[in-house]
Amino acid sequence: MRPCVIAANWKMHLDSSGAQALARDVRQHMEREPANAAQVILCPPFPFLGIVKTAIEGSGIGLGAQNMHTAPSGAFTGEVAAPMLQAMGCGWVILGHSERRQYFGEDDAHINAKVHTAVQHGLTPIVCVGETLEQRELGVTEQVIEAQVRGVLAGLAPDNVAKLILAYEPVWAIGTGKTATPAQAQEVHALIRALVGLLHGSTAADALVIQYGGSVKADNAAELFAQADVDGGLVGGASLDASAFAAIIHAAGATL
Ligand code: PEP
Repeated sequence: MRPCVIAANWKMHLDSSGAQALARDVRQHMEREPANAAQVILCPPFPFLGIVKTAIEGSGIGLGAQNMHTAPSGAFTGEVAAPMLQAMGCGWVILGHSERRQYFGEDDAHINAKVHTAVQHGLTPIVCVGETLEQRELGVTEQVIEAQVRGVLAGLAPDNVAKLILAYEPVWAIGTGKTATPAQAQEVHALIRALVGLLHGSTAADALVIQYGGSVKADNAAELFAQADVDGGLVGGASLDASAFAAIIHAAGATL
């Protein structure tokens, strides 16, 4: 049985006291549900990694970053490297989010280079793929997802594919309040798992955690996470609201 993993993408929101309070609230919620076996990961902005690390220490909640550079060090002003994230206590890093693709020109080859660097430095990448509204309406979702999955996972050993997380995030559902229906999500998740099976073998495909992301909320989480190939969620807006996020974590725990 695969784990159910809920990652909170706080994006460029909050201030330091807000980040600390939110991390403490999530911790308190987890302590109220000791039997909840979902893996929860908080991905704050870089400057708040230390504050959040302290707030969640010893709780079982994971710490993740929202991005990193391809190189392990070097003259790249303003960038952050994998070993730095590791040293800050991060176990995970979101890579290839659609906002990185859209606003910072990241393509599959660049994201693939980051995935390799993350794996080499002991970080679990949460690698995002997803089609735009235009692509869905043109009926090319399957081709788009296939090209992205092939590209971002290129050259990885099956063992490494088995351990990473893929997040299916239809771009039209991110921050829009529009959610893929559970059937739409399941269809694409199943397609991704079958493709990973073809490319990297069935053991890796069976083990691979595939999250859904795109307006996951307290009232749609349970139905989404109940789908056979949906192994949790990457949550943006609702992860900034402690009680909404608690309800999502509760829904995740109920599927296990
Ligand atoms: C995201 O940014 O990864 C995301 C899924 O955002 P939201 O939940 O707000 O749609």
